[in-house]
Amino acid sequence: MTVHQNFIAGEWVASGETADNVNPSNLGDVIGEYAQADRAQAEQAIAAARAAFTGWSASTLQERADVLDRVGTEILDRREELGRLLAREEGKILAEATLEAGRAGQVFKYFAGESLRIAGQHMQSVRPGIDVEVTREPLGVIGVITPWNFPIAIPAWKIAPALAYGNCVVFKPASLVPGSAWALADILSRAGLPAGVFNLVMGSGAAVGQAILASPEVDGVTFTGSVETGDAVLKTVAGRHGKVQLEMGGKNPLVVLDDADLEVAAACAVNGAYFSTGQRCTASSRLIVAGGIHDAFVDEMTARVSALRVGDALDPETEMGPVVDAAQLDQDLSYIDVGSGEGATLACGGQRLNREHDGFYLAPALFTGTTNDMRINREEVFGPVATVIRASDYDHALDLANDTDFGLSAGICTGSLKHATHFKKNVKAGMVMVNLPTAGVDYHVPFGGRKGSSYGAREQGAYAAEFFTIVKTAYTAAL
Ligand code: NAD
Repeated sequence: MTVHQNFIAGEWVASGETADNVNPSNLGDVIGEYAQADRAQAEQAIAAARAAFTGWSASTLQERADVLDRVGTEILDRREELGRLLAREEGKILAEATLEAGRAGQVFKYFAGESLRIAGQHMQSVRPGIDVEVTREPLGVIGVITPWNFPIAIPAWKIAPALAYGNCVVFKPASLVPGSAWALADILSRAGLPAGVFNLVMGSGAAVGQAILASPEVDGVTFTGSVETGDAVLKTVAGRHGKVQLEMGGKNPLVVLDDADLEVAAACAVNGAYFSTGQRCTASSRLIVAGGIHDAFVDEMTARVSALRVGDALDPETEMGPVVDAAQLDQDLSYIDVGSGEGATLACGGQRLNREHDGFYLAPALFTGTTNDMRINREEVFGPVATVIRASDYDHALDLANDTDFGLSAGICTGSLKHATHFKKNVKAGMVMVNLPTAGVDYHVPFGGRKGSSYGAREQGAYAAEFFTIVKTAYTAAL
C-alpha cells in the first residue's frame, strides 16, 4: 500500500512510522497508510514556514487570490470523490460528506475574494498636522490543529484565511481522519504556493501538537477540539505570549414552545441532534420543551428517531452512519448508562447495532424525563444522544437554556415574534437559530461561541481577519 507522506518545505517527506486509516462503517476496510511525524519533523515544518514567511507576507494580493481560487475550484470539481473519501474515513453519510467537501471549496473561493479586501483606516490625529493610519499585517506562522468531525471544512476555514492574509501554515489534522487532510494538502501542493508556505504534519497530539504549541516560531495557534485539549493549548501558547483561538465543545439547547409548528420543531431536533451521528459541536443535545407541546413532541420524536436508518455511510439509503471509533462509542454507551442511572427514561435507542460489516453502529438515543442538573445535560456526549427537559413556560425555558457551562449555539422553535426576538437578545450563545436546527451555518458570517465553548477571535467571514492579522497604528507628521 502506498504511504501518504507529510508535506514539508515543498517536498513529500517520509516518516519513521505510519498508521492505518480505518473505515468506521467497515473495520476490514483500510483506506490507506499515513505517515506519522515525530517532534523533529514538526520542528522542520515550523522552520520551513518561518523561512517562507518573509516572501509570502510580501506576496501580491493577486497571487494569494489566484492560489486560493485554484484550490477552491479543484475542491469543488472533485467534491463527489472527496465526499466519498470523507464518508469512508469519518462515517458521516455520503450526502453530508459531499456537502462538507463542497463547503471547503466555497470557503477557499470566499477567502480568494477576502484576500483582496484587506482594509485599514486613515484617520485624523487629535493633534494638528498629524495623520493616523491603522493597517493590518499578517500574524506570521500559524499552527492549525483540527478535530476529526469535520475533516475538510474545519481545516479549510482555518487554512484559507491564514493564507489569504499572508501567513504561513503548519497543519496538524486529527489522527483519525488523515485522508481528507492529505487530499487537501495534495491540492494545496499544486496550487502555486512557494515552498514552506503550507506544510502538512500528520502525527499525534503529544508529538506534533505539542511541538506546535511550544515553538516560539509559531505566532498563533487556531485550534478546534475538546475543552480539555483546548485548555492545554491556551496555557502553553498564551504562556509564551502567542496568539490563540479556540473552538471547543457545546451542550446546545433547542427550545420548543407551545406555539411551535410540531413538524418544524421535530425536523429541527432530529437534524440538530442526530445528523452526522450527533458528532457536531453545534448538535442540539438538550431539547427544552414547554408543557403544552411536550407529550406530542416526545411522541413525534420517538417515532422519527426510531425510524432513522442506521448503516454504512457509503450506502445512499443510510440516514445515520456509525460512530467514528471505538473510544467514542465507549463514551456514548457509558453516557447511556449514566443517563439511565440518573433516572432518565430511555425512550428509544442507545444500543449497539450489527450491520453487514463490523462497524461502530449505535441506535440513536432519546432520553425523556430529564432534569438540567443531570450529567447527561451538563457534559458533552458528542454522539447520537439527546435529552428532553420539560419547561413550564418561555421564561423557564430560557433559564434552562442559559444554565450551562457552554455557549456555542442555541435554537428556538416558536410562532411568536415576541419570544423569538427576546430569545435572540437574551440567550447566552454565540449563534442563535429561530425555527432552524442549532447546527448548520454559513461560511461568510462569524462562527463561534461564549463561555466554555470558545476563546479568542471569531472564525469565518470577514471576522477571520481579527485572528489572522495584527494591527499597526502609524502616525505621520507632514513636514
Ligand atoms: P481533541 O481535543 O481530542 O483533538 C483535537 C486536535 O487536537 C487533534 O488534532 C488532536 O490530535 C490534537 N491534540 C490532542 N492532544 C493534543 C496536545 N496535547 N497538544 C496539541 N494538540 C493535541 O478533539 P477531537 O476528539 O478531535 O474532536 C472532538 C471535540 O471537538 C468535541 O469536543 C467537539 O465539540 C469539538 N469541536 C468543536 C467545534 C467548534 O467549532 N466549537 C467544531 C468541531 C468539533
